[in-house]
Amino acid sequence: MAVTRPRLLTPGPVNLHPAALQALTRPQLHHRSPEAAALVRGLRARLAALLASRGEAVLLGGSGTAAMEAVVRALFRPAARVWVPVAGKFAERWVEIARAAGLEPQVTEHPWGAAVGPDDLPPGRIDGALLTHSETSTGVLHPVRSLAAAVRARAPEALVVVDAVTSFLVAELELESWGLDAAVSGSQKGAMSPPGLAFAWLAPRALERLRPSGYYLDLSRELAAQRQGQTAFTPPIQIVEAVHDVLEAAWPQGRDDLARHWAVKAEATARFYARGAELGLRPVPSREEARSPATAAFYLPRGWTSEALSAAFAERGWRVAGGQGPLKGRIFRVSAMGYFTRAELERAYNDFTAVLRRS
Ligand SMILES: *Cc1c(COP(=O)(O)O)cnc(C)c1O
Repeated sequence: MAVTRPRLLTPGPVNLHPAALQALTRPQLHHRSPEAAALVRGLRARLAALLASRGEAVLLGGSGTAAMEAVVRALFRPAARVWVPVAGKFAERWVEIARAAGLEPQVTEHPWGAAVGPDDLPPGRIDGALLTHSETSTGVLHPVRSLAAAVRARAPEALVVVDAVTSFLVAELELESWGLDAAVSGSQKGAMSPPGLAFAWLAPRALERLRPSGYYLDLSRELAAQRQGQTAFTPPIQIVEAVHDVLEAAWPQGRDDLARHWAVKAEATARFYARGAELGLRPVPSREEARSPATAAFYLPRGWTSEALSAAFAERGWRVAGGQGPLKGRIFRVSAMGYFTRAELERAYNDFTAVLRRS
């Protein structure tokens, strides 16, 4: 039975890539089979290569947050002082995860919509940093490379961890050459696959400092298993296969194919901002240079509630996202991070204008 659902203009989950849909139609694979081992090995290698890392990628059953928590617990000891610049919902999540693990997050607060800069590093001893690359709650891309440089200049041993959940595959990003020690992402964002698989990248410096922690989300246990093509527990193997197949289909040459994709996503997001400008909408990112290619975010125009706007988009077959935290009920977000045909995206731009022209 064919079910018609709104197409997703949300910044995760996103419309599935055809290779993901195809993977999901195959008979159930046993996770302790040679085929599964080949998928795990192949996916881990591709993930590391796509971030230009000589380190290793680890797969975890769970959403992106599982990888955030696993990495924090594997790399830092209780009472570690980690800088967390907060300018959005996902940076707040780093703070909560760090506190739950007994760390002492050194929080600096910044306006939501602003980009954090290297001068924002707080004074004092620092053991690490938990950064957010693409802050999906505000549509801001933070300059993690220069933030990492500031941290390392202060404390060469400090480990720099990046939330790359909506920048992986969507914005330029490299691990070691950018001074980053670990990164995390998930299957339901730029990888255009179903939710349920998280990725953690560990650069060589992080691999050296990895320690066992917890049980189900213990990265060292997973790493030991995954080096053998196994996983410690039953993985969401369909999603492993979906992501594997999407990466192979969309970027067969790995990073060599990515630059063009970044440009396509940046252009798609810029088109939404251009439409917004024509309609007089106010973008959430305070500066144009700070805009993330993963999502466009606008303040709700006068006369609209979040619910009314969602309903107007739904009538035309689209699901859009509202705001989170202090921006709840004040903004809306549209994203071209998922899979779209050209014609579909044109329809999205035109429907965007048609809905908001009524304001
Ligand atoms: C989606 C997202 C996450 C992870 O959210 P999950 O629901 O756990 O997958 C983390 N950080 C950012 C920036 C995100 O966009």
